[in-house]
Amino acid sequence: MLPFDFDYYKPATLQEAIELYLSLHQQGKQPKFFLGGTELITLGRIDLLYTEAAIDLKNIPEAHVIHVTDNQLILGSALTLTKIEEANIYPLLTKTVREVADHTARGKITLGGNICAQIFYREAVLPFLLADSQVILAGPEGIRNVPINDIFHEELKLNPGEVLVQLVTDMQAIEAPYISIKRRQQWETGYPLITIAGLAINNRIRIAISGLCPFPFRSLEVEGLLNNRQISMEERIGKAIEILPQPILDDVEGSADYRLFVLKHLMFDVMNVLGSG
Ligand SMILES: Cc1cc2nc3c(=O)[nH]c(=O)nc-3n(C[C@H](O)[C@H](O)[C@H](O)COP(=O)(O)OP(=O)(O)OC[C@H]3O[C@@H](n4cnc5c(N)ncnc54)[C@H](O)[C@@H]3O)c2cc1C
Repeated sequence: MLPFDFDYYKPATLQEAIELYLSLHQQGKQPKFFLGGTELITLGRIDLLYTEAAIDLKNIPEAHVIHVTDNQLILGSALTLTKIEEANIYPLLTKTVREVADHTARGKITLGGNICAQIFYREAVLPFLLADSQVILAGPEGIRNVPINDIFHEELKLNPGEVLVQLVTDMQAIEAPYISIKRRQQWETGYPLITIAGLAINNRIRIAISGLCPFPFRSLEVEGLLNNRQISMEERIGKAIEILPQPILDDVEGSADYRLFVLKHLMFDVMNVLGSG
């Protein structure tokens, strides 16, 4: 049970969704878009999310697209993680989303919902940060196509009333060697202690991490150090750990020191698999 009532809307087009948002916002109803709706239920129950108007984006056709061209993959934000696993078109994404939550929850949780989530792990974003994907956004100012690394800083920086519609990824990244490892402290499913994803493109390793800080990230500075073949792997990893974004999480999943210990070992695994000798 949610401790508040809200009106429910299910627009059929992007334009309708955005017009609804603007009109409900003007009426002071604090409208919220949603896809899988799991956050409305989990966070609404504990007073961390409130709305008087929920706009369900599931009927929007553009958000259900899975389209492969010769050189690009386009994925709609309303695809559930299960659907992405079954389609198995982007192996790094398949491996990463297969580790999110449990099978039942993955049937509800969507790509867009995970990337735009308030719950900060947002693990599904890691493969897109690594691939330098583009995001297609629709909002009151129209449609924009933006590099994800220009707009995802700890979270996807959307303008008011803007929605994530699709993600576009070059096939070069989709076909590149990859690795994704999730370490948990508790149970077989659930939130990560650390999730690390890596991709090797043009003989350079890229890495992105969730669970270390209260936001997922890819750091070009960290990658620069990890790819410096002038020094030993041990030294590279040591230096990379010194310049990680802050703060390092220190919570029930694990202390900051333990997370850094686990991360160090995971970095060795990533570099051994992706071949940065
Ligand atoms: C049981 C369980 C286990 C979980 N385990 C993990 C885990 O292991 N790793 C992990 O990363 N996460 C995990 N989560 C968190 C989950 O992935 C997020 O809560 C995610 O938001 C859920 O997706 P959804 O489709 O239900 O999103 P929704 O609840 O529909 O939306 C989430 C947020 O995104 C916004 N939003 C949704 N779609 C759009 C859009 N297209 N454009 C703009 N904004 C949008 C909504 O306004 C809302 O604020 C777990 C959640 C549950 C319930």
